[in-house]
Amino acid sequence: MTVVEIPMPDDWHVHLRDDEMLAAVVDYSARWFRQALVMPNLVPPVTTLEQARSYRDRILSSVSIEAPWFDPRMTLYLRPDLVADDLRHGWVERVIGGAKFYPAGATTNSDLGGTSLADFMPVLEVMAELGMPLLVHAESTDPDIDIFDREAVFLEREVAPLLARMPELSVTVEHISTSAGIDLVRAYPQAFGSITPHHLSCDRSDILANGMRPELYCKPVINSAEHRRALVEAATSGDDKFFLGTDSAPHPLSAKEARVAKAGIFNAPFALEVTAEVFFQNGSLDQLAAFTSTNGAARYGHPVSERRLVLTRHGDANPPRDDLLTTATGDQVRLFGVNEAALWAIDQVA
Ligand SMILES: [Zn+2]
Repeated sequence: MTVVEIPMPDDWHVHLRDDEMLAAVVDYSARWFRQALVMPNLVPPVTTLEQARSYRDRILSSVSIEAPWFDPRMTLYLRPDLVADDLRHGWVERVIGGAKFYPAGATTNSDLGGTSLADFMPVLEVMAELGMPLLVHAESTDPDIDIFDREAVFLEREVAPLLARMPELSVTVEHISTSAGIDLVRAYPQAFGSITPHHLSCDRSDILANGMRPELYCKPVINSAEHRRALVEAATSGDDKFFLGTDSAPHPLSAKEARVAKAGIFNAPFALEVTAEVFFQNGSLDQLAAFTSTNGAARYGHPVSERRLVLTRHGDANPPRDDLLTTATGDQVRLFGVNEAALWAIDQVA
């Protein structure tokens, strides 16, 4: 039996959706996470402080478990016409934790994003002045670029020039999927990176080698085993520039296993178990707290939680878990990480 104790973690990148889906999934985030940095790609996207406040209220009123620690922090969808006062007031009031750039067309509800970060300079200058983080979905939408190379190309063409041009703007490269992302974050003092449980635990052979598994399809796509090893090395190294962002992104099975399948993995229920198992297999459980609870808190300006969780690995003692949840409207959503969940138990330290 292996036991590891960590401060209550934060999830620095999560999609909680809205309405019935929000109600079905939010408890899984509230259960073990303190802060949640909530992505703004609703339809329509969250682009004003008023919308962000209202979304935060809907999130909190959807939580049905006792979770007084749960403190969702909102993000605005980066648009050239974002109102500077919304950024200022949202930042000072600690409602807004950052603004998120989506390359138009790269992923779910990204159609209103941009093509180039250079188109957003006036907004980015306000953010730099405030110290508000820019959150970047780093993926080229150039159809001539191979899908597995799109993160590296976007970093080279867009993110590196921006970092060089605006050293005062802090940037999180979200859901890093390749060694190119790790290298870029390490090369610039003001760059940070979130990494997901699924990019740490899977490579593209898991998607394609033994039948095609749509539940592992996400953006940026899970890449090669070599890139996965680079992510595991960074996450388990203790390097304070890297932290957990689950990118948990539920879709109904009807969209997820359709002829044209939606990108997104619903990992919030067992994100900690999956992450702990990666660290366990790598012999790095002593670095788990840095990745899940300490590094991200420091990056986003929060004290580390005083609450603590204890994670216990007791082999295969748990029975397999059901891997589907059903929303109030009858949609089913597949849960990622049931195998790891069977190995681990989590409790809050009293
Ligand atoms: Zn995301």
